[in-house]
Amino acid sequence: MNASTNATVVDLRSDTVTQPTAGMRAAMAAAPLGDDVFGDDPSVNALQAALAERLGFEAALFMPSGTQSNLCALMAHCQRGDEYIVGQFAHTYRWEGGGAAVLGSIQPQPLNHAPDGSLPLADIEANIKPDDAHFARTRLLALENTIGGKVLPMDYLAAASALARRHGLARHLDGARLFNAAVALDPADPYAAAGRICAHFDSVSVCFSKGLGAPVGSVLCGSRELIGRAHRWRKMLGGGMRQAGVLASAAHHALEHQVRRLADDHALAKRLAEGLQGLSGLTVEAPQTNIVFCDVATDIAADLVAHLKSRGVLTTGLYKLRFVAHLDVDADGIDRTIAATREFFSTRQG
Ligand SMILES: *Cc1c(COP(=O)(O)O)cnc(C)c1O
Repeated sequence: MNASTNATVVDLRSDTVTQPTAGMRAAMAAAPLGDDVFGDDPSVNALQAALAERLGFEAALFMPSGTQSNLCALMAHCQRGDEYIVGQFAHTYRWEGGGAAVLGSIQPQPLNHAPDGSLPLADIEANIKPDDAHFARTRLLALENTIGGKVLPMDYLAAASALARRHGLARHLDGARLFNAAVALDPADPYAAAGRICAHFDSVSVCFSKGLGAPVGSVLCGSRELIGRAHRWRKMLGGGMRQAGVLASAAHHALEHQVRRLADDHALAKRLAEGLQGLSGLTVEAPQTNIVFCDVATDIAADLVAHLKSRGVLTTGLYKLRFVAHLDVDADGIDRTIAATREFFSTRQG
């Protein structure tokens, strides 16, 4: 656990709350810098080249946020009046302020998720519009992996990708937590697993500010041509940064040193889910990666979140109760969370 963490608070609201580790801060302090708008920040260029190579793409572009990275990708794939097929609970549809529609004039076609987080192939196919002036032009399939902490099956990715190709659709992956999926699939060689996932997509966005532990930043990967178009949008959206290598070096450190350790977060999530079993009024979903979702009655959710807060445990309860494990939480914090939750239910019943 990080020395900089406030030891009295267990913050499970998100894996975005992580603080840079000592090794990461050292890498940031030592990073050679230039002006990235001129394209000559060596640390930014090194990160972009390293991620593109690891994931099997021609080019990559460092972005201030995952939201901007996804938006630049959507705008690079789609024109005004085009449409992308996307999940109802996908970040690129539900959690990005409607940016694709507002700033890109791109229409979303949201679909319901299957229980495993995938978009059923028949639903995708049924929603690809014919070439007819009544319809927006269906141009892109946008998937997310992990989605709600779940890993999309590899055979599903192959089938969805083939379907999109057959219909002439481009394929974008919101891989904010790509490496969580990769570590879950192959803890021994997560980089190879990440490459296998990415082989099914024309573009992939990866967040470094989540479980990977960097303070800021995402990277969009794709063909040289697509990244060229995304670069123009990034500038227009205000995402051109200058000595950005101070941030890119943190992401690069994470890429080299903090991927495999995501398995620790997955183990903590499992420990938490097991510890919360058997409480009447709380249904725990078995986690596949670092996120534990629980169903609680809506009238209980707010009280439980407040109770946990009074015990120094922070969490969120927007649709479901959500606990996210990350590098600034340890087994002790997880056990405190279990104890505080059990205490809540015992006092309610008593
Ligand atoms: C966090 C996240 C993003 C990007 O979020 P930013 O806060 O803009 O960096 C995109 N997609 C998913 C699935 C995410 O979880």
